[in-house]
Amino acid sequence: MKTAIYDFLMSSRSPDEAFSDARFFALCISHRAMEREGGIAMALGLERRQLSHLFSRYFPRIEESRSTAQCTKVYLHSAAGGTFLCQCLGKEHKASARAEETSDLVKLLGDHRASVNQATEWIAAILAAGCLGDDHLWQDLGLTHREDLSDVIKRHFPGLYFKNTGNMKWKKFFYKQLCDQVEIRLCQAPSCSVCHDYAQCFGPEDARGWNLLAAQG
Ligand code: SF4
Repeated sequence: MKTAIYDFLMSSRSPDEAFSDARFFALCISHRAMEREGGIAMALGLERRQLSHLFSRYFPRIEESRSTAQCTKVYLHSAAGGTFLCQCLGKEHKASARAEETSDLVKLLGDHRASVNQATEWIAAILAAGCLGDDHLWQDLGLTHREDLSDVIKRHFPGLYFKNTGNMKWKKFFYKQLCDQVEIRLCQAPSCSVCHDYAQCFGPEDARGWNLLAAQG
């Protein structure tokens, strides 16, 4: 079903917007649409009005055809040929409980953005919300592999991309930046090169058995 929702989104995409950004948004939205609980906007780290703007700009046919009164997940599943039992009402997503953390991450990304525009703002929010997950960031976002994530960071937050010279895992790298900003030192070793935890910070971000959505285009 995730693939069907992704295909539905991409078939509705605006030709006026960059394919790479539309693909990123479609992957993230289709991934969040599979979660049983919680509103999709909050899971993405967006306000509902931001998600509406995102649909209007990148997937305009969807924004025209969906009812804002209807659960977006129910709509997406139905439009893609499936069904979904909505459990959004009254459910708090953990993103709201860690608002200060996501706000710090959004600010970090914003401080390193390539330009001021809505798409970059939405991507920063989506990346920050993804950092609250338990897996590699590219997995928590629903991307197909780490390169998808590196590409979007390079395009929208080049200051951070080029700062990660050691190819540190992205989540670790973002949080290390936050610690460095406030001069908090959580690392036990004097430097990464002599650290016992090196593999945790710099090891490959692969995922054997991860259910890959076939890369589109
Ligand atoms: S490798 Fe060790 S010293 Fe370097 S960031 Fe990770 S925990 Fe800190």
